[in-house]
Amino acid sequence: GSSQSALNFGAGPAKLPREVLVEVQGELLSYQNSGMSLIEMSHRSKEYGQINKSAQDLVRELLKVPDNYKILFIQGGGMGGFAAVAMNFLNRTGTADYAVTGTWSNKAAKEAEKYGTVNLVFPKADKPGSIPDQSTWNLNPNASYFYYCDNETVDGVEFPYIPETNGVPIVVDMSSNIMTRKVDVSKFGCIFGGAQKNIGPSGVVVVIVREDLLGNAMKICPSVFNFTQVHKENSVLNTPATFSVYVMEKVLQWIKKNGGVDNMEVQSSRKSGLLYEAMKASNNFYSSPIDKNCQSRINIPFRVGGPQGNEELEEKFLVEAEKRFMYQLKGHRSVGGIRASLYNAITYEDVALLVKFMKEFQAQNQK
Ligand code: PLP
Repeated sequence: GSSQSALNFGAGPAKLPREVLVEVQGELLSYQNSGMSLIEMSHRSKEYGQINKSAQDLVRELLKVPDNYKILFIQGGGMGGFAAVAMNFLNRTGTADYAVTGTWSNKAAKEAEKYGTVNLVFPKADKPGSIPDQSTWNLNPNASYFYYCDNETVDGVEFPYIPETNGVPIVVDMSSNIMTRKVDVSKFGCIFGGAQKNIGPSGVVVVIVREDLLGNAMKICPSVFNFTQVHKENSVLNTPATFSVYVMEKVLQWIKKNGGVDNMEVQSSRKSGLLYEAMKASNNFYSSPIDKNCQSRINIPFRVGGPQGNEELEEKFLVEAEKRFMYQLKGHRSVGGIRASLYNAITYEDVALLVKFMKEFQAQNQK
């Protein structure tokens, strides 16, 4: 029924903490006894100003962002971010290095090609699932920046380290793993990510940018994507996605209350560890197509019925899962199979229920 909360393993938009949604519901019609919903208020209002500031402060606090970095909120989704980083940073030398480890970094490289020269530091693999050893990368010392995707949401490939670039600024897409593990922000030129997986609803993109990289945007860069302009106007250059920022601020409060990013990281390892252990114990009934050293803690694709996958069995797996209120487990259409996304709001107990189901399903369906 509708009051029962589903076990939502979707890749995004995705499960958010129930208590945050309850709080939003409680003040939806009257924000702080104003008789107005926050959605109905000006982005120049005192109320929204406080939310905007609090959300920025929380990002800074939770990720320990150094003072020489600015925090911005833009729109246009993660994909808007692909274009924005190119238009803001590619101007310096006209060329940028990209590591393509899956679907999203590939799309980002394609987007950047519209604005300059893109050098792939290693050849794109036919099937994502590994990260070539850094010693083999073809890095250009003259690149405006080096770009990678920290966690490939579709393919399930997550970087186990921050690449070494000898001073070339690093730009990273953290859309699907932001605030799921500690990060040394000082190693980056720019971190960006859509909120709709770990920290809020869709509609807002968090950008963390080192201040010395500002001021170089291309003339053609739309003002709403120009990080320098957006920063000057404190992320209210134009009307922001006020509702999205409002809910995100509450999710960030929730992360803070629940042990911060330190604890999100501990929980993330516990949750993904439980699932990978279960796969290992299944003797390849469930199998991951990803190299061990870069298996994502967050988006976990797997095949059912053997490493190549048995599509009939996978279809049945999804039907049986839904009978237990487990939803959005279907793998991305480009990859097939099953994918479980374990974002911050997913609990260890949620994963334990999934694993319990997987064991029962195997017992009933293994030939
Ligand atoms: N980058 C990553 C890692 C993603 O997972 C996604 C979406 O799932 C995107 C970028 C694109 O984000 P959006 O759909 O908000 O444009």
